[in-house]
Amino acid sequence: METHRHNIKPEPDEKDLKIRQLTHEYKKLQQELELTNQGMIALHHELTQKATLLEKENEARKKAEKRLIKSRDQLRLITDSLPVLIGYLDKNMICRFMNKAWEEWYGTDLSTVLNKKFSQGIGTHGFNKMRPYLDRALSGRPVRHEDTLQFPNGVKRVFTAHYIPHLDDARRCLGFVILLENITQMKFMEQDLRTAKDQAEAASLAKSEFVANMSHEIRTPMNGIIGMTDLLLATALDDTQKRYAQVVKQSGDALLSLINDILDFSKIEAGRLDFEKLPFDLKTAIEDTAELQSLKAESKNLELACMVDPGLPDQVIGDPGRLRQVLVNLIGNAIKFTHEGQIDIIAVLEGQTDSYLKVRITVKDTGIGIPSNRREQLFLAFSQVDASTTRKYGGTGLGLAISKRLVEMMGGDIQVDSVVNQGSSFHFTAVYEKNNAPNKPDKSPPSVPRKIQGKRILVVDDNPLLRDMFRSYLAFLECPCDVSENGHEALLKLKTACRENNPFHIIMIDYVMPKMDGIALAREIRNDKEIGSVQLVLMASQSQVGDAALAQESGFSAYLTKPVKRVSLFECLEQISNPASQTARPDGDVPLTTRHTLSEFSEKKLNILVAEDNPINQELAYELLHTVAGHHVTMVDNGGDAITFLESNPCDLVLMDIQMPVLDGLSTTRLIRGKDSTVKNPRIPIIAMTAHAMKGDKEKCLAAGMDGYLPKPIQAEELFSSVLKILSERGIIKSDAFAIPEPEHPVSTKGVKTVEAKIPGGLFDKQSFLSLHAHNSPRIAMKLIEMFLKHYANALADVAAAVEQKDPKALNSKAHFLKGMVGNFSQLAHDQALVLEQIGGSKDLSGSRESLSQLSRTVEQLAWVLTEYATELERDDTP
Ligand code: ADP
Repeated sequence: METHRHNIKPEPDEKDLKIRQLTHEYKKLQQELELTNQGMIALHHELTQKATLLEKENEARKKAEKRLIKSRDQLRLITDSLPVLIGYLDKNMICRFMNKAWEEWYGTDLSTVLNKKFSQGIGTHGFNKMRPYLDRALSGRPVRHEDTLQFPNGVKRVFTAHYIPHLDDARRCLGFVILLENITQMKFMEQDLRTAKDQAEAASLAKSEFVANMSHEIRTPMNGIIGMTDLLLATALDDTQKRYAQVVKQSGDALLSLINDILDFSKIEAGRLDFEKLPFDLKTAIEDTAELQSLKAESKNLELACMVDPGLPDQVIGDPGRLRQVLVNLIGNAIKFTHEGQIDIIAVLEGQTDSYLKVRITVKDTGIGIPSNRREQLFLAFSQVDASTTRKYGGTGLGLAISKRLVEMMGGDIQVDSVVNQGSSFHFTAVYEKNNAPNKPDKSPPSVPRKIQGKRILVVDDNPLLRDMFRSYLAFLECPCDVSENGHEALLKLKTACRENNPFHIIMIDYVMPKMDGIALAREIRNDKEIGSVQLVLMASQSQVGDAALAQESGFSAYLTKPVKRVSLFECLEQISNPASQTARPDGDVPLTTRHTLSEFSEKKLNILVAEDNPINQELAYELLHTVAGHHVTMVDNGGDAITFLESNPCDLVLMDIQMPVLDGLSTTRLIRGKDSTVKNPRIPIIAMTAHAMKGDKEKCLAAGMDGYLPKPIQAEELFSSVLKILSERGIIKSDAFAIPEPEHPVSTKGVKTVEAKIPGGLFDKQSFLSLHAHNSPRIAMKLIEMFLKHYANALADVAAAVEQKDPKALNSKAHFLKGMVGNFSQLAHDQALVLEQIGGSKDLSGSRESLSQLSRTVEQLAWVLTEYATELERDDTP
């Protein structure tokens, strides 16, 4: 059975097959299940990971949200804390954002205005006012404006608004940020400040007026004290009395200069110091100031030298008085604080443009010096190097403070270098406008004298600055020049030059030199046949001028007073280079025509009316306009006659004095210009001539209808250029047709030497009289002097009578008249007459007698000097 079982392999039946198949399928299913299971696990894993990620992201988002909320809150806090209104309006003018400040501005909760039309919050009135700016911002342009608005709650506010457009990438405007700043409070403050400033200014004005009045009040009795002491000193006094009187005089002078300093300083402090804008000759102003101070230097045996850069332009516009003031202070200090040695004044051109120039002026001394630790304070008010200065040297310590402010007002600065016991050097700069007036002839030097070009000149001076100065002046004149510092060296140079067949033509010798002085050197030269033919010029100080006879005896052909001025040097050289020139001068009776007298000039003959009551000014105007310029001139001496003339005569131009009897210049002009005018041409050009020269006068003249303004004393060039300007502006002449006549050649200095020696400082400046007023014409000079000598005594007597009769009105007008007469000749007399004129004007006649006695003395002296000068001119003119 078993075998059977073994041997007989039974055929699988269908059931088995089924089972096998099922088993197989089961296994397959099991495998699939296994795979699915694994997929599920992987999916589960992935899902778990995603869930974690999602959770993390969620957390991050929450954090970001928190941060966003925080920063939005911060932004809100910041914008809400700002005092300005910040908002955002979309392009439909709907408010999308507004900070808290708007609430206070509107007086309502923000929710009532946010997301609403802007017009709703601000009100129709305000919106309409702002509309143009809002529209502009919406067009994409940033806008800023200031305005006042009344808000719906009734409050009025002043604000500044800024609109900053918000543009997308295509530069389309999506809306704009609006910033409003409430400046109402600031405006109130501004108003308060303005009122306070006005009040302060009024107080300061009152204060400075008080100081000015006080100083004037003090000055009047001071002038009395000084004047009377002067008179007292001129009487017979014993030595003690004389000493006492001298102390009174010195103290009076010191007090007066102190008052002047304080007055200036208080004016500067109050910002009321006036600066003039006048055309003036810069080089001459510097040289003249130095010259005036030279006497003071000489009295202390100090040598004063002044060197002006020949390349410095002459004609500038500025305030010559203020320049002089600074120079006088610096030179005065240099003299005061120097016991021996010299004072050098050097002016150089620091820089220039077409219209401006900067000059640097140095005042150098060999005095006590200033310790370095005190230099800083020097320019502060009331500061001196040490307290003993006042005891030893006097002074207020105000001078440098004033100078510093003045220099700053002149566009410059001031500095000091100093070594104790060796000396100080003060430098300052000043900026001036160049006077580029058309057709203005260059006056300085008055045409470089051709005849001296090429002359070989030797200069002997122990002062190195002066040697340098002569080198540069002579180089300018194209004269080959050599210098020596003493007589021995000079003798050697003269001899060598002769041996080399290249002798010097002129030798200029300083009077005072160590070892061999100028006179001794001259004698050596004259005694030496080889070199004796050279021409000698002596350079001497004012006090040595008395040695003129000695100089002549020693063989000098000319002498120059120190500090030597360029113009004097040129004139002196010209004269000695060509002695024939003295006889070759034009005949006085021949009208003064020059090579520039154009035929066109006389073809354009003009009819000019001069209304002027002063005989000297009449004469001057006539000479300049008729004799020099060739025009037809009619003279009247009051406004009434001027109108009568203009009613029936053709006329091209009127020159009108302001202060005249019968009808003054301003009233006359008003009548000419007025609608009821009776004159032929109510638009006729009128130029004012006035000696008032006060601030505001020009404006008054122009307001009365005048076309131009000419300050007196009349200066030839100013007269010509004003006439030219006005007539060419009016198209009456072509501007090139009315050339400014070239000045006459300056008169020879032949006679001047002796006159100059006698003239007290400031009384009469020959040079400026001749060049400024007399147009460099000796003939005009003579005529003016003749007129003066003819009329001055009566004019002076009229002033004296007014003082005697205590008649302020008469004093005012008579002194004004006399001032006009003396103004062309003498600054000193002019100023003294002005004092009397002002006394008359003030109605308080105290001090008038003293001022009169001063003025009389000055005018008498002036008459004497002018008589002498006229004689010299006459002698010069005689062939
Ligand atoms: P004041 O001369 O009236 O005292 P300043 O302001 O002109 O006033 O000068 C102030 C001070 O500066 C003088 O007191 C003097 O001590 C000093 N100082 C000015 N210039 C010089 C100078 N050239 N040399 C020495 N010291 C000077």
